[in-house]
Formats: sequence, structure tokens, C-alpha cells
Amino acid sequence: MIEDKNQQRTGLAALGEFGLIEHLTQNIEIKQPSTLTGIGDDAAILDFKDKKVVISTDLLIEGVHFDLGYMPLKHLGYKAVVVNLSDIAAMNATPTQITVSIAVSNRFPVEALDELYDGIKLAAKGYNVDIVGGDTTSSQKGMILSITAIGEADAEDLAYRNGAGDGDLLVVTGDVGAAYMGLQVLEREKQVFQVNPNNQPDLDGYSYLIERQLKPEARTDVKAILKGLEIAPTSMIDVSDGLSSEIMHLCRLSGVGCNLYEEKIPVDPQLINTCEEFNIDITTVAINGGEDYELLFTIKQDDYDKIKGNPNFTIIGHLTQQSEGTHLITRANTKIPLKSRGWNALSNDEA
Ligand code: ADP
Ligand code: MG
Repeated sequence: MIEDKNQQRTGLAALGEFGLIEHLTQNIEIKQPSTLTGIGDDAAILDFKDKKVVISTDLLIEGVHFDLGYMPLKHLGYKAVVVNLSDIAAMNATPTQITVSIAVSNRFPVEALDELYDGIKLAAKGYNVDIVGGDTTSSQKGMILSITAIGEADAEDLAYRNGAGDGDLLVVTGDVGAAYMGLQVLEREKQVFQVNPNNQPDLDGYSYLIERQLKPEARTDVKAILKGLEIAPTSMIDVSDGLSSEIMHLCRLSGVGCNLYEEKIPVDPQLINTCEEFNIDITTVAINGGEDYELLFTIKQDDYDKIKGNPNFTIIGHLTQQSEGTHLITRANTKIPLKSRGWNALSNDEA
């Protein structure tokens, strides 16, 4: 994972800026009906007819948001796209296009950017979004990557952070905490490798956690599932900073309180095993570890029967009046105020 498999190194100067853009953007196909013109002119042209248009952007800086020491470039490209698509999904909208802007120092050969673009193109293809533009420039040090995602939705389908009401049920997709523990495993292996480069990383038993960290997926499937169940979420947000922090955002913006039940929080068995090995509290990781990119949303109590038992969703709590505050109800049935960042030594600076 750490070594550079690509032996060939073509300097960026060999292609020049326009040659590089052409090289990186070749074979990019347009599939979305809303894309009238993609790459090649001064600007892309999109036509969304009577749909609402949703836009979200992210800026990623090497050494701040990612570390190429354990993040292969292909994974970086994939993840950078996914985190933006997750923001579109969190509006209960459908992503349709992305733009990709990169700044790189001459430390990176063309082959490295090819790997980055392999990841970007793989994600674009998998999520059926068109790459319709971007910008390419140089940086004095390191890599800077910015992706903008565009999506569409009918006005009545859009879900906002401020729509939750007293009594609504709090629901999360998938499971949480795994991406954070994946990062802990990778950081440990990196240290072992630095001490002795002959040590092969031992990543057996952590595959799900590492996959969640290096190759997260956006829940762009949830919109159709909810539609099929005839459920309109009253509010929605994606879990990028950690469950606790996102719940507090929803509650603050919606003017409600909440009870989150520790015993309900969905976690993967691999997370449980690894937390025991690292001697870290599972619930602390599950509610404070970030970068899961699952969706957190609220529904009306009347919709309970439509969602109960559905394997995509877990009901983890309910909303209360704002004056009751935001609490975690532990297994021992004690009430602890939620905090937006770890009650233990969890600190994790992400996008
Ligand atoms: P301008 O000088 O108007 O910024 P560029 O020469 O930078 O134009 O870009 C030419 C075309 O290539 C535009 O359509 C632009 O959106 C696209 N483009 C430039 N860089 C990238 C990139 N890294 N990824 C995808 N498209 C790009
Ligand atoms: Mg440009």
C-alpha cells in the first residue's frame, strides 16, 4: 500500500498545462441528460429544467486533510469525489455532475496524477456523475484538490438540517465509527513501518475498517429507498464529523432536543474487536469518530411501521423539546449530555 508501484516518472513539464489537462480529461464521457456541454469550452452548460439544483464543494490540502503516506492517490481521488456526493445525498438530492480542480508541485509525475484521476473517474462512473470541468495549476508545495458536486431534486424532496420536530424519530443508515478506527489502524502500521521498513503491514482482521477509511461510499441510494417506502425525511445531514456532532447540528438548527440510545447505535463486529484491542471505548468511537459518510435523518413517528426492521436503517433515538437538551442514554440508563467532540482524547481534523 505504501510503496510506489509506478516506476515510470514523466515530469509535468513534459506535457505542459494544456497537454496535462487534455491527458487527464481524455475518455471522459457525458451520461447525464442535464449535461449539455462538459469539458472543453470556457464553461460547462447544464440544463435542469424544472428541478432544483444543489451544489457543494470541498477543498483538501495535503498534510492537513490527507496524508499520502498511507492514502494511495487512487483512493484519495475516489474519496474526494465521494465526500462531495455525500453532501448532495444529504440534501436528499441526486448527484449529477462534478468539477475537479487540482494544484500540484513538480514533485508529482504525470503517472501520479493518472492514479489520482483513475480514482476520480472510477467514482464518477460508479455514481453516474459527469466530470464537466475543473482547473489545473501548480503549487509550491504539495497537492491541493478541490471537488465541486452538483445535484438535482424536486423541491418537495429536498431535506434540510432545520426540519426536525419534537417527537420525530432519529434514524441512521449503515454503521458508524469504522472509518475512525480504520485510520487508527493505518496510523499504527505507518509507525511500525517507519521504525522498520522491512515490517510488512499486518492488516488482516481490519479489512472493513480500512475500507471504510480509504474507500468510503456515499449513500446516494437512500433517496430512492425512502421514496419506495413513502417516507419523507423531516431533516437530514451526512455523518462526516461524527454522529454526536451531527445530531447536535440537527437539533440546534431545528430547535429541538434529543435522546440518543447507546444500545441502539449500529456498529460493525470488527469495530468492537478492534476497540477492545486498542482499549478504546466503542461508544466513544461510534459517536465521535468521523468520516463514516452515512446519512442521519429524522422521520415522523407515524412512519415508524414503514421503517422498522429495514436492514438499511436503525432508529437510534427520538427528538424532544429543546429545553430537555441533547442526551445519550447509556446502557446503564444514565443520561449524559452529548458533546460535539470526544469526551476522551479523540481529535481528528477532517474536511
Ligand atoms: P481556462 O483557461 O478558461 O481556465 P482551462 O484551460 O483551465 O480553461 O481548462 C480548459 C477546459 O478543461 C475547461 O473546460 C476546464 O473546465 C477543463 N479542465 C481544466 N482542468 C481540469 C481538470 N483538472 N479536470 C477536469 N477538467 C479540467
Ligand atoms: Mg483554468
